[in-house]
Amino acid sequence: MKTPKNKTTGDARPHLLDLDEAELRAWVRDAGQPEYRAGQIWRWLYAGRATSLDAMSDLPRRLRDRLEESFRLWSTHVAEHKTSADGTEKYLLDLADGGRIECVLLRDGPRRSICVSSQVGCAMGCVFCASGLDGVERNLSRGEIVEQMLRLQRLLPAEERLSHIVMMGMGEPLANLDNVLTALDVARSPTGLGISPRRITISTVGLPAAIRRLARHAHPYHLAISLHAPNDALRNRIVPINSRVGIREIMAAADDYFAATGRRLTFEYVLLDGINDSPQCARQLASLLRGRVSMLNVIPYNPVAGLPYRTPDPARQLDFRDVLEAAGVNVQFRQRKGDSIDAACGQLRRNRDAADAHTTH
Ligand code: SAH
Repeated sequence: MKTPKNKTTGDARPHLLDLDEAELRAWVRDAGQPEYRAGQIWRWLYAGRATSLDAMSDLPRRLRDRLEESFRLWSTHVAEHKTSADGTEKYLLDLADGGRIECVLLRDGPRRSICVSSQVGCAMGCVFCASGLDGVERNLSRGEIVEQMLRLQRLLPAEERLSHIVMMGMGEPLANLDNVLTALDVARSPTGLGISPRRITISTVGLPAAIRRLARHAHPYHLAISLHAPNDALRNRIVPINSRVGIREIMAAADDYFAATGRRLTFEYVLLDGINDSPQCARQLASLLRGRVSMLNVIPYNPVAGLPYRTPDPARQLDFRDVLEAAGVNVQFRQRKGDSIDAACGQLRRNRDAADAHTTH
């Protein structure tokens, strides 16, 4: 049987970050306090970067005590915090029930981007990805998603703000869309983190019904679709969920998203040596994307221990790129960041699990 690690000692208090602004106001009212106190608490969480409830120093002591009795601010425990020379920082977080997730802060020029997880594990089964190797354990709550944002925000000096969010950590965000959307409400809200929806990216393996639901959302986010193959035969092999969906349906949903939002789409393509990196694949990919207002993000594979895939050598990457550029595709090769700290999805968790297994046997 799997034993939970670092179980947070049976703390039954609800998670404060699960509450939205209206729910917090209702709690403050029920506690017999004037409503503006809710605004104060909210500001401490999102602008004031409080790291404990007790630090909310302009609240009356009695209210602070009530808060402490009623809620916990953090629901996770930092199992590991890694920093790499390029300014990338990564947290491995233990959840109260024993699950593990990870999230990353990336510094790139003036950008302060964070990469956030949406599930513990992943059910999509992409063969090259570390996150899904053991399947999915559960969805993250709204509070657990917000907590990743707030923990990473607190790594920044006071004069710096988070500028971008990518839902590209562990899990499939469109398989946990309700909680992802309520978490992003606070990321986007001017009284929350105040990040424009244009700077918030939801990355998906491509679930058409959920893409259409997202297209109807009042605040359209940037959508990235993880394609990885230009035809179904190949995609079924490397992205198993595809055999239940198919590229044609995904592209139709993507077109609907663009029509409804006017937002340029991003397609992601992890380049795997000898699998999806041939000039023929590049030509097929170019014709698939032709006529679509989109950006193609090519990501050279980041090796995962124990998996048989390899990163194509630079010459082969260049050939792939040349074909796409000659065909007029708007393509960008994504630089790898945080390699030294296993910053690719699911890798830190996996390596930690392996190390733990090693030390406990
Ligand atoms: N489930 C979502 C979001 C999480 S994965 C999705 O599929 O988009 C975020 C991105 O990282 C995806 O494009 C995914 O394919 C890519 N990725 C996963 N493992 C990788 C690896 N080892 N090297 C490079 N990119 C990887």
